[in-house]
Amino acid sequence: MIIPFYKPYYTGAEESYIRDAMARNRISGDGFYTAKVKEFIEEMFSVYKVFLTTSATHALEMAALLLNLEPGDEVLMPSFTFPSTANAVVLRGARPVFVEIQASTLNIDPADLEEKITPRSKAIIPVHYAGIGCEMDQIMSLAREHQLQVIEDAAQAVNASYRGRYLGTWGQMGCYSFHETKNITCGEGGALLINVGDTEMIQRAEQIIQKGTNRRQFIDGEVDRYTWVNWGSSYTPSEVLTAFLYAQFMELERITAKRRMIHGAYTHYLLPYARSGKIGIPVIPSACQSNYHLYYILFPTETARKNAQKALASSGIETAFHYVPLHSSPMGQRLGYRSGDLPLTEDLSRRLLRLPFFTGMTDSEIEYVMEHVTGILEKI
Ligand SMILES: *Cc1c(COP(=O)(O)O)cnc(C)c1O
Repeated sequence: MIIPFYKPYYTGAEESYIRDAMARNRISGDGFYTAKVKEFIEEMFSVYKVFLTTSATHALEMAALLLNLEPGDEVLMPSFTFPSTANAVVLRGARPVFVEIQASTLNIDPADLEEKITPRSKAIIPVHYAGIGCEMDQIMSLAREHQLQVIEDAAQAVNASYRGRYLGTWGQMGCYSFHETKNITCGEGGALLINVGDTEMIQRAEQIIQKGTNRRQFIDGEVDRYTWVNWGSSYTPSEVLTAFLYAQFMELERITAKRRMIHGAYTHYLLPYARSGKIGIPVIPSACQSNYHLYYILFPTETARKNAQKALASSGIETAFHYVPLHSSPMGQRLGYRSGDLPLTEDLSRRLLRLPFFTGMTDSEIEYVMEHVTGILEKI
């Protein structure tokens, strides 16, 4: 058997929605399906205002533009994240300040976060790793106390919540990803969520996404022609993509339920090894409702991880690491960070192995993976 690390899931309805989008003779952005998806997200997750984008990377870039970040500004974020979280800040000339994670959830550690706040801090970007919420009550209260903005990198966290409130809707802004590897996808896609009734910010977002024009006001009939009003860019996905995405959102609960089942099966097999202290597995705190985005094992040592990956590969099972901590990456070093700056992050990322995890996984695929993984764990 060959078990890929990841395989996109199709609901079967994507093609008919795309054909319908084509029949509407409007395949650029901001048409029928864009409106449908926005409306769905706004209602489902109680979001004040949603902008669909071509990726979470672009949603993060828009958020950084809306924060008016300037050179010298500092933005706090975990080092254990995807480069896009930091790129958005670096592109504005501001400085990412890397914060440790908690060993239990691999999410940003509020205690280290508090220690790294300075008078130059402007914002916090918590990353909800694996679709499990950061400690948002502590983070929001630190943000209020120090007057910082919060942009949630909820790229992995669509349909996950913390204390009953959806991730992505806690901060002033939140970012979703609909990349192929995420739970709900259109290949490449994302969304910027604005959670504050700030009309000026929303108007700026409308201009930024419309190439710096007031086209939005033109569409809404507020002006009789549109023109260049400010700097901006182009982050709008086409109707071909949003039609695909709509098909996926219509299956949101089924997709989440399927992933919950796979996650539960993995935990069923691995819990005895976690209980005996041999390995670590994802911890879902009681305040969190996960969307079951991914599954990982924390091995006791880097060598144990390497050997496990090799053994699994020889059985046709593809696995992956996560992440090279940003502070120790070549770009992080150019920013002045060094290996050793965040010991816990470095230790955890060296021991983490992600298992195959995708919505379409069959029972026999799950059993095959678990048979081989538990075989390895027996020998550790
Ligand atoms: C996937 C991911 C991104 C980037 O998402 P894209 O839609 O591919 O740009 C950013 N941050 C995190 C934490 C991610 O997992």
